[in-house]
Amino acid sequence: MTSTTTAYAAHSPKAPLERTAIERRDVGEFDVLIDIKYAGICHSDIHQVDEGWDEGIFPMVPGHEIAGIVSEVGPGVTRFRTGDRVGVGCMVDSCRTCDNCKAGNEQYCTGSGMVGTYNDTGKDGQPTYGGYSQAIVVDENYVVRIPDDLALDVAAPLLCAGITTYSPLRHFGAGPGKKVAILGMGGLGHMAVQIAHALGAEVTVLSQSLRKKDDGLRLGADHYHATSDPKTFEELDGTFDLILSTVAAPLDFSAYLSLLKTDGTLVNVGLPEEPISLDLFSVVTGRKTIAGSLIGGIAETQEMLDFCAKHGIGAEIELIRADQINEAYKRVLTIDVRYRFVIDTTTI
Ligand code: NAP
Ligand code: ZN
Ligand code: ZN
Repeated sequence: MTSTTTAYAAHSPKAPLERTAIERRDVGEFDVLIDIKYAGICHSDIHQVDEGWDEGIFPMVPGHEIAGIVSEVGPGVTRFRTGDRVGVGCMVDSCRTCDNCKAGNEQYCTGSGMVGTYNDTGKDGQPTYGGYSQAIVVDENYVVRIPDDLALDVAAPLLCAGITTYSPLRHFGAGPGKKVAILGMGGLGHMAVQIAHALGAEVTVLSQSLRKKDDGLRLGADHYHATSDPKTFEELDGTFDLILSTVAAPLDFSAYLSLLKTDGTLVNVGLPEEPISLDLFSVVTGRKTIAGSLIGGIAETQEMLDFCAKHGIGAEIELIRADQINEAYKRVLTIDVRYRFVIDTTTI
């Protein structure tokens, strides 16, 4: 048994998104039905609709930055009630028994692998459809609570952009006494600036230009530099303990590694569609580390939401109607977003 809901889907790779009807599974014993209010547009949505990474499953309903209200719960649900304010991020299931799942790192599930919120196949064998829709059914273990102090529209992007930057900033020790650079001032980058600042680090934004400098400083950056200016690389040589790259295009990592102190770490979360090349002298010299990080676990996502509520952190958003999604995609690709498009899903 299923129920029908309205959504925006791409019917083939690179196709514009159109209003369509999709089926959601009935609410199972441990499921919650969520009346979606807002869905953020992540650059990953565009990579996947465009098949920039891999073959996609179509029709594709993107959206893994979901905020809404619980409208029904299954009989076995213990953590949520009708009326609760909740969020769903990039995954809706995992094996739950492997070491990573047990340790709360479900995003690195080594059993059956994490089940993506969309562009994936659920344990029932059916395709998963994401948040550009009016309702979603999710197992309660993959749902998080949005604190009352956070408005749902500015909270939605935290479910991916927030956790994707919070997790590595915590893991790699951003905090007091640490000089942290955030590379790229987009959806992820503008969250990283706020979170790194709230963690107590000295924060520098490295952006292609100084166009967004005022915003960066307002959001908590201590310094702001343009990477288009060669002087930036001379001035900041050997400066940072940690660089977090959120850039969606291939970069010359060798140049950025020169900005790290000895033993510094460059952690990358950006996922460009082409590989990069690297001069290994830039890692060997100064015992540098290059690392990566994928979203964050469920408990850590809840911790991030509570942290953001405590520090008054939300995304800077441009709220759009569903019929503006295709235009928003174009604007993300031309780096014309400040700093996250969020869909008012009541307009779907
Ligand atoms: P976004 O809003 O488009 O921001 C990306 C930023 O990268 C831009 O604002 C721009 O910042 C910078 N940039 C873009 N093209 C560049 C270029 N050619 N050279 C240098 N800088 C460039 O994208 P997003 O939603 O934040 O996502 C960023 C990337 O992270 C995407 O590839 C996405 O798929 C990936 N992602 C990864 C994870 C994960 O778990 N690892 C999770 C979510 C997203 P400036 O204008 O400041 O230069
Ligand atoms: Zn995302
Ligand atoms: Zn697992």
